Amino acid sequence: MPTFDDPAFLARVDAAEEAAMADPVARVLLTHAVCPTASDRCGWQGWLLEAAWRRIAPGEDPFSRRAPAITNQICPNCGAEVFRTYVSRELVAEEPAPRN
Ligand SMILES: [Zn+2]
Repeated sequence: MPTFDDPAFLARVDAAEEAAMADPVARVLLTHAVCPTASDRCGWQGWLLEAAWRRIAPGEDPFSRRAPAITNQICPNCGAEVFRTYVSRELVAEEPAPRN
């Protein structure tokens, strides 16, 4: 397991960050979900990531460049499978601001 003071590990993290910023996620779909309210479940509710897409060129299909993302439907509190409601939000990013 790498440590945070390992220069080789930090260099790999820097490279991953640069690649992510060079080809960022520009659109995400979120769904509100609830942990089943049965007595053996926790009742958690919140937003889950359904999908993410990378930035596209003008005129390109906005859903053509899906980005890798964690989209499992598991309760972050108790690990049960959650129920996805019909409440969803699609968020589209403005161009990312330059980072220093
Ligand atoms: Zn739960």
